[in-house]
Amino acid sequence: MTRQPLATSLDSYEVWFVTGSQNLYGEETLRQVAEQSQAVADGLGGLPVKVVWKPVLKDSDSIRRLALEVNGRDDVIGVIAWMHTFSPAKMWISGLDALQKPLLHLHTQANVELPWADIDFDFMNLNQAAHGDREFGYIQTRLGVARKTVVGHVSNPVVVQQVEDWQRAAAGWAAVRTLKLARFGDNMRYVAVTEGDKTEAEIRFGVQVNTWGVNELVEAVEGASEADVDALVAEYLDAYDVADELKPGAERHQSLRDGAAIELGLRSFLEEGGFGAFTTSFEDLGALKQLPGLAVQRLMAEGYGFGAEGDWKTAILVRVANVMGAGLPGGASLMEDYTYDLVPGSERILGAHMLEVSPSLTTAKPRLEVHELGIGGKDDPVRLVFTADAGPALVVAMSDMRDRFRLVANVVQNVDAPDLPKLPVGRAVWEPAPDFATSAACWLAAGAAHHTVMTTAVGIDVFRDFAEIAKTELVVIDEDTTVRGFQRELRWNQAYYRLAQGF
Ligand code: MN
Repeated sequence: MTRQPLATSLDSYEVWFVTGSQNLYGEETLRQVAEQSQAVADGLGGLPVKVVWKPVLKDSDSIRRLALEVNGRDDVIGVIAWMHTFSPAKMWISGLDALQKPLLHLHTQANVELPWADIDFDFMNLNQAAHGDREFGYIQTRLGVARKTVVGHVSNPVVVQQVEDWQRAAAGWAAVRTLKLARFGDNMRYVAVTEGDKTEAEIRFGVQVNTWGVNELVEAVEGASEADVDALVAEYLDAYDVADELKPGAERHQSLRDGAAIELGLRSFLEEGGFGAFTTSFEDLGALKQLPGLAVQRLMAEGYGFGAEGDWKTAILVRVANVMGAGLPGGASLMEDYTYDLVPGSERILGAHMLEVSPSLTTAKPRLEVHELGIGGKDDPVRLVFTADAGPALVVAMSDMRDRFRLVANVVQNVDAPDLPKLPVGRAVWEPAPDFATSAACWLAAGAAHHTVMTTAVGIDVFRDFAEIAKTELVVIDEDTTVRGFQRELRWNQAYYRLAQGF
C-alpha cells in the first residue's frame, strides 16, 4: 500500500484576494482599482498562507464563476473580499450563495491619510470602500453568510494579525473537512462525555470517524523490522534524556524496543490509511504489549490528532490545533484536568494524562522513562516526562449537546511547576482566567469535558474564527467572564443554535 506521510503545514495553501467593482466606472478608474487592490494584496504578502490577487470582479457571472472555481480547488482555503469602489451587491448574490469556503471581508482602503487639499470628485469616485463595503456587508448579512470582518489599513500590524488568525482558522477548517480519524477500539466503558454522534460530526465538520479492531494495529506493530526498531531507538537516544535502564544493553531495554515497534506500527497504519487523527482505549489493547504512550506523544508532536479512551472529539481538536498552529512556537496536546492546588489566591490546575501528553508543549529535552501503569493490565509503558513551558495557553473542549456540538474554551496561563519527582508523566500547571472559581463554575455549567486540547501555539482569536467558519457554538471563559453573564449566554445559545439550525 502507498503510505501518505501527514502534512501539517500551511505552505501548500492559498487564499484569493478579490476586489469588487462594476463596469460603470470606465477603464481609467478600473485600471486604478486593479493597481491599488494589488498593492493591498501585496500588503498581506508576509502572511503564512499565500495571498493571491485576482482580477477585479465587475459582474455577477464572473463572481459566481470565481466562487465555483474556489470551491473546486483544495489548495484555495478561503477568499478575502474588498469593495474598493461601489459594487452593487445584487451582483454578489449568486456567488456568495455558491461559495463554500471561508470568507474574510477586508474593510480597508488604498490610502491611510486623506489628501485633503487635493481631493476632487475623481478621488471620491475611486476611494469609496466606506460605502461600497457597507453595501457588501448588507448582502452578506441578508444572505446569512458566515464571515470575518477586518477593519483597517494593511499597514497596521493589528489588521495583518487578524487576517493571519483567520488564515490559520481557514487552514484548520480545510484540514478537518478532509480529516480521516481511526479509532482503535471503542470509548472507555460507561463514560458519557467522550461519546457523540459520529455521523453528525461528518455532516458538521467533514471529518470521517471510523473504528478498526485493535488487532489490525497489532499486526502492523508485529510487522516492524528489527532494523527499523534499531534506527528509531537511535533517534530516541539522540532526542531525549533516556533513563539508563532503557539504554541498549540495560535491563529494561526491551521495553524501549517494544515502544519503538508500537510507534512504527502505528505510523505505518496511519500513513497507509491516510489518517490524520486517532484514538486508543486502555480497555481494548488486544495483543499490544504496552498502552501506546511514547508513540502517541511523538505522533501528536508531529501534527496528528489524538484522544485517549476513544475520545475522537478531542482528537479532532488536537489535529485542528496542530494545523492552525503550524510554524508557530509551542504546540498542541491532549490534556486532562486532573487535580487542583486550592491555596486561596493562588489556585492552580495540574493537568496531565496517563501517558499521552505531547512534548510540543516544552522546549526542554524530555526524559524518556518506563514506569508501572496500574491500568490496562499490560507491560509497563515507555513515556516522555516533562513539564509544559510557562506562558499563555488555551484549553478547548468539545461536547455533544445532542442537537449540536459545543466548544468551550478557557484562556489560561501555564506557570512554572514545583518539582514533581514522583509523577512520571508529561504535565502542565496552569492558572485559568479570570480566576479559578469562575473558570471552574463556568466550565461545569457549560457541560464541558475533562479532556481538552491544550494549545500554546494559537490563541482564542484563532479558535473564534474557526468556530465562526464551522458555524459551531463556542463559549469562551476569559478575563471578561462572570458566572452570571456566562449562564445567560448559555441560555441564549440554547435557543439561538436550535433556531439557527432550522427544522
Ligand atoms: Mn482521560
